[in-house]
Amino acid sequence: MRTPLRSASGVRTWILAGALWVSALAVASCQGDKPGGGAIPPLEVVATVETEPAPHAGDAADDPVIWVHPTDPEMSTIIGTNKKGGLAVYDLTGRQIQYLPDGGMNNVDLRAGFPLAGQSVTLVTAGNRSHNSIAIYRVDPATRRLENVAARVVTTLEAYGSCMYRSRTTGKYYYFVNSKTGNVEQWELFDNGRGRVDAVKVRGFAVGSQTEGCVADDELGHFYIAEETVGIWKYGAEPNAPTGRLSVDQAGGGRLVADVEGLTIAYGPEGTGYLIASSQGNSTYVLYRREGDNAFVKAFRVVRGSGIDAVSDTDGIDVTTANLGPAFPSGVFVAQDGRNDAGNQNYKLVPWHHIVHK
Ligand code: CA
Ligand code: CA
Ligand code: CA
Ligand code: CA
Repeated sequence: MRTPLRSASGVRTWILAGALWVSALAVASCQGDKPGGGAIPPLEVVATVETEPAPHAGDAADDPVIWVHPTDPEMSTIIGTNKKGGLAVYDLTGRQIQYLPDGGMNNVDLRAGFPLAGQSVTLVTAGNRSHNSIAIYRVDPATRRLENVAARVVTTLEAYGSCMYRSRTTGKYYYFVNSKTGNVEQWELFDNGRGRVDAVKVRGFAVGSQTEGCVADDELGHFYIAEETVGIWKYGAEPNAPTGRLSVDQAGGGRLVADVEGLTIAYGPEGTGYLIASSQGNSTYVLYRREGDNAFVKAFRVVRGSGIDAVSDTDGIDVTTANLGPAFPSGVFVAQDGRNDAGNQNYKLVPWHHIVHK
C-alpha cells in the first residue's frame, strides 16, 4: 500500500479496503488459537497466477515487490530478484517484461514519492551481492521498466536482506541492509543534485545471528527484522531511535518454524492491517496484527490448485491491499516458490481476499 496512498483512485481503494477490512477482522478474530485447545490448522489457499521461471536453476529467485501503477492498477507489476544474476519485472499475468542482468540481487523493495530532479518518482532498491552495493532504480510509469539512477557504486556491509523506509516525520527515504552475521546498516537515500541517487550511512546495529527478511512500517515508524532461527524483532525505524527492541514471535513457539524468512506489511486504514512472515520451515505464512503488540491472527499455506503447484520453502514475500482490478480486487499476496513444478523457481500470486476473507 504505497502508491495508492497518493493515487487518484486512492479514495475509492480505501473505502473498499475499509469495508472489506471490517469483515476481515471479524473473521480473523475467530481464527486464532482455539479457546482451551490447540491452534487451528493453517488456512489453505491457491495461487491464481504464477510468473515465468527464473533464468537460472537452483535457488535463484528470492524476493518480490509489487509496484502499483498510479493510474491503471491492472498495469501494476511484480519485480523479483534473481540472486544468480539480476532483477526481473513481470506483469500481473506473470509474463516477464524486463530482465536486468545487473548482479546477484538478493532482496528488493520500493517506495513512491521520492523527489528526484524535480519529479516524484518510485525508487526501487535491491541488495547487490555481486558488489555488496545498493542497486537503485526508478520505475518509468509509461514503460513499467526500471532505469538505473544510482549515483555511484555505494558499498555496504555484506548485502543479504534489504528493505526500505520512508519517514513520516522527516519525509526522508532509507535503505536498510543486513548481513549473514546479523548486522544491520541504515542508509539515507538522497538526490545528488544531478538527477542521480546517492546514499550515506546513518546507523548500524547488531541483531545477534543470521538475519535476512525485513520490512519497515512507514506510518507507525517500526522496523521489523527476522533473525532466521530465532524469531521476529521490532525496532524503531528512525535513524536516531533507541536501540531497544521487542520480540514479535519466536521460532519454535508453535507458529514460526525456522528459517523465518520474508516479512511484509498489509496496510489497512487507521494504522490497522497485518504483519506477515514466511515460516519457511513448515511452508506457511503467519499473520500478526500490524497495530499494538502484533497479536497472532492466523496462518495459511498455498496449496496446489487452478493448475498451479503448491508453494513451499518460501524466501521473500510481498503484499498490497490496493485494488488491482478484477483479478485482484482487494490486492495480491506474492510469494517466492522454492520448488516450482514447471521449471526453475518462480513467484506465485494469490488474491488477497482469499487470505483475509475466508
Ligand atoms: Ca531459497
Ligand atoms: Ca535466508
Ligand atoms: Ca532468502
Ligand atoms: Ca511449488
